Amino acid sequence: MRRKIVAGNWKMNTTPAEGAELAKAVAAGKKEICDCVNFIVCPPYTHLSEVVRITRGTGVAVGAQDCATEEKGAFTGEVSARMIASLGVEYVILGHSERRQYYGETSETLNRKMRQAYANGLTPIYCVGEKLEEREDGRHFDVVKAQLEEVIYHLTPEQFERLIVAYEPVWAIGTGKTATADQAQEMHAHIRRTLAAKFGATAEQTPILYGGSCKPSNAGELFAKEDVDGGLIGGAALEADSFLQIGKAFLK
Ligand code: PEP
Repeated sequence: MRRKIVAGNWKMNTTPAEGAELAKAVAAGKKEICDCVNFIVCPPYTHLSEVVRITRGTGVAVGAQDCATEEKGAFTGEVSARMIASLGVEYVILGHSERRQYYGETSETLNRKMRQAYANGLTPIYCVGEKLEEREDGRHFDVVKAQLEEVIYHLTPEQFERLIVAYEPVWAIGTGKTATADQAQEMHAHIRRTLAAKFGATAEQTPILYGGSCKPSNAGELFAKEDVDGGLIGGAALEADSFLQIGKAFLK
C-alpha cells in the first residue's frame, strides 16, 4: 500500500500571523480525518518555525518550498537545508515549475539541492511537468522522463526509497484547468515506469502526487486513479476547509 498524501504549497502567500491561523485550522480539522491520509503544509520560510510548533503532535507535517544548493557560506538571501531541517521541518519541495521558470533552475541546480536535502534528512517532493506547447507537440512524456532521468537517476537506492514525486502539468497550475483523471493516470503510470526502469520494484512504493488546479470538486476522481497517490495543492491549500476536503476525497 502506497502512502496517501495531500501537500499544500502556500507559495508566497499569508503573513506569519495568517499562516499560523491557517496551520491551526488545518491541524484542528485533521483530527477528524483518518491517519491513513498524510497531510503536509509548506509555508514560506518565515513561517516554518511557528508552523512546526503549531502542528507538532497533530499528524500534520511541515515542508519548505525550496532550499539552497550550498551547505553554508556567502550566499546572500539563501536558506540552507540544514537550517530548515534544524527547525523540525521534514519535507522540501524541489523543482517546482515556478522555480524552474522564474529562477532558471536546471537539472544541475536541482541535483545540488537534492544532495543538500538528503544530507540533512529532508524528504524531497520533486516536481516534474510539461508546458502547454510541449504537450501540444506530443513531447510531454519525453520532457517528464528527462526531468526524472537527469535528477532522480542520480539518487542512491536508499535515497530513492524516501522520495515523493509530484506531477504538475505547467498549463494546469493556477489556471483553473485540470488534467483529466485519465491524463493524470497516463502520466503517473509513465513516471512510475521511468522510475522502475532504474530502481526496480521500489518504484511501486513511490508516492506520485498530482498538482494543478486540484480542488475538492475534482480530487475524488483524480485520487481514484491507480497511480495517483494524492495531491500537491496550491490555491486550494490557502483555505483550511478546501484543503481538508481534498484530503477527505480519499475516504469516499
Ligand atoms: C502548485 O503550484 O503546486 C499548484 C498545484 O497550484 P494550484 O493548485 O494553484 O494549481
